[in-house]
Amino acid sequence: MGRIIRTISTTGEVIAIAVDATDIAEKAQQIHQTSAVTSAALGRLLAAASMMGDMLKGKDDTLTLRINGDGPAGSIIAVSDSEGNCRGYVANPVVEIPLNNKGKLDVSGAIGNGSLTVMKDLGLKEPYIAQIQLVSGEIAEDITSYYAVSEQTPTVCALGVLVNPDLSIKAAGGFLIQLLPFTSEETIDAVERGLQDLPSFTQMLSAGMTLEEICQRALPEFELDVLDESAPEYRCNCSRGRVEAALISTGKAELEDMAKDEKTEVTCHFCDKVYSFTGSELLALSKKATE
Ligand SMILES: [Zn+2]
Repeated sequence: MGRIIRTISTTGEVIAIAVDATDIAEKAQQIHQTSAVTSAALGRLLAAASMMGDMLKGKDDTLTLRINGDGPAGSIIAVSDSEGNCRGYVANPVVEIPLNNKGKLDVSGAIGNGSLTVMKDLGLKEPYIAQIQLVSGEIAEDITSYYAVSEQTPTVCALGVLVNPDLSIKAAGGFLIQLLPFTSEETIDAVERGLQDLPSFTQMLSAGMTLEEICQRALPEFELDVLDESAPEYRCNCSRGRVEAALISTGKAELEDMAKDEKTEVTCHFCDKVYSFTGSELLALSKKATE
């Protein structure tokens, strides 16, 4: 189980959210058999999606983060719900590139140049969609840029994934600090002072600090109240019914063509579950398709 907390300063000006996404990143690694750098990239995006999902107000709201980069990892997608449960995948799960010049996993090199798209399905007629150019491809800076450009909300984002030599996940997660509108200059200065010399999120988490302690360490000049917490997990919501609906949407001609094969297997991108259809089952589905 992961853990996520939302806190607010007693002054009401600063919000801090933090997630321990170690188990989520571990599950993603096991499903997708990612290499170290793609585990880091996907784990960071899942941690961000989990926190941003947790900030959604409606119970059935969902959030999708999609990175389209020209690097060897290809597209990376993370989807979350309003409790921070999330799932994701990376187009090319195995990428082997050298460490960056700081001796760290080169997430930016795996992603390359491109865009970050944020989609929020809030149960309205049209989803909210915003797209920004990637700033660094390290993901945390790109999320910060998204909030500045698209939501005009000053945000500090930290994300991290520590990968063990055997490719299991030692620690993963991050935090988001946001300033509410009309925050005073003094508050902004106090937030900035607190972030100087702050250890990395995964350093703090793997040293045994709780999420409450990490938020307090990042905002030492503020008193924080915990608003709520939940226990998000890596969760896929695929089902045979959903796969059938997706097949029907491909159209009558396509399904009739697929039905010529004795057996067709459809694999869920998010959890690798395999759904098997016989030719006659596909023919039956084609009768429900329009064109
Ligand atoms: Zn699935």
